[in-house]
Amino acid sequence: MLETYRREYAEFNSQWGREYYLVLSGQKDTLELMRIYERYSDLFTQDSIFLLKQLLEEASPDFATNRVSINHLLNFATDQFLENAAKVLTEEISAYESQSRIEWQGREIHFQEAFVVIKNERDRESRRALYQKRVELIEGANDLRAERLSKIHAASRALGFENYAVLHEQLRNQDYAALAGEAEKLLEQTESIYVIRLGEALRRDLHIKIEDAERVDALYFLNLSEYDEKFPANQLLRVYKETLQGLGIDSDKQKNIYIDSEPRPRKSARAFCAPIEIPEEIKLVIRPVGGQSDYQAMLHEAGHAQHYAWTSPTLLPEFKYTGDYALTETYAFLFNHLPTESDWLASMLRFADNRAFIRSVTLTRLHIVRRYAAKLMYERKLHADNNLSSAPALYSQLQTNATKFQTGEAEFLTDLDDGFYSANYLRAWAFEVALRDYLKTRFDTRWWKSKRAGNFLREIWDTGDRYNADEMAAQIGIGPINFDLLIDEFNRELK
Ligand SMILES: [Zn+2]
Repeated sequence: MLETYRREYAEFNSQWGREYYLVLSGQKDTLELMRIYERYSDLFTQDSIFLLKQLLEEASPDFATNRVSINHLLNFATDQFLENAAKVLTEEISAYESQSRIEWQGREIHFQEAFVVIKNERDRESRRALYQKRVELIEGANDLRAERLSKIHAASRALGFENYAVLHEQLRNQDYAALAGEAEKLLEQTESIYVIRLGEALRRDLHIKIEDAERVDALYFLNLSEYDEKFPANQLLRVYKETLQGLGIDSDKQKNIYIDSEPRPRKSARAFCAPIEIPEEIKLVIRPVGGQSDYQAMLHEAGHAQHYAWTSPTLLPEFKYTGDYALTETYAFLFNHLPTESDWLASMLRFADNRAFIRSVTLTRLHIVRRYAAKLMYERKLHADNNLSSAPALYSQLQTNATKFQTGEAEFLTDLDDGFYSANYLRAWAFEVALRDYLKTRFDTRWWKSKRAGNFLREIWDTGDRYNADEMAAQIGIGPINFDLLIDEFNRELK
């Protein structure tokens, strides 16, 4: 059974990846998941899940790789069983969003584009007016989103789990209560520095008091537009290339990474990586507009792309396509963090006078980490309750408390990713600080200029998704993953 299952699993992941790539890169109008799900429906029936569970129970504890392999397939089958139960609604929501238009200053803009306009809109009243229109569109599909979520929740119970939260904890062997405890500690221990520095920045850059700040202001604030000219769009690819060169990686010779930089009207504004065949066909999709957030997004996706591109072709497919996403996010954040390094800014972008910038970008990073801490706390409740009635108020309250930007209730089902992805990000941020620290100590404080650091990264990337983030941290000798280094870093950098 396993041989056939494996082959079809790899095919499904490739086709799914290609479909997302074509839609998000603006080469195809609508997401057509139904076709793929129908063709491979045998992979995630309740029977298949039951069989995989049985295989796992029978697998000898002496063959660890075999057990992990079956567990990866079981996780995949379960995730897709849930998504399959909701696919009609997923498509409907995607179609609603792609057809939605907003009347804005005499023209019609796409739902996705509105987000980009808000991020760049200096005038607060315009920003708020556009945000309000976007909120109305979001609210227009909240019934569909609630229906989708209840289908996913019901499917979790159909598999015999108490709820969606328990399903993820058990299958991924994670303790979300403990992680939420760590997240709460992070919120507490960074609270005072965050409030002080955010208050200063909002007064200085946005001319508003922290008590008056709203979520829409955060979108603009996070963009740090005043530094745009330091991060020109036409230098993005050179910076990518030179950063990799420092690590001894010649990106021109990496034929398995295809950089899609073609402008297309419906192309996603944010960079993304689509690993279609791992490691043979990785798409790195960019739409360079310049600015620090564009650079950070590109470097983040470059981290994913390198991880998948250096994954050993001889690994079993289940160790390439699915695993603990906190691991690939760690590699992505490692690169994502480079524009916070003074030497990197000076040598890559001739931006030597960067102290104020680094403080600002660190503050935005703390904002994001705090946002995700609140998301995890919210998602634990949302996915344990079968009733959504208290969710909007809880979302608004947790987000407002953590970020200090007043956040309404409208986004309680859009500001959310499936499968507790918030937990993956939080674990990745914590692991990344430790990994970066390790690279600096073992190789060079400018680790991105060390070929030996590059060799080391290639060695760990070679194992693809065979290990989870905790196992990888332990193997490197820097585990267990906890939030202490991250909390210290914020308090030190923002002092
Ligand atoms: Zn990522």
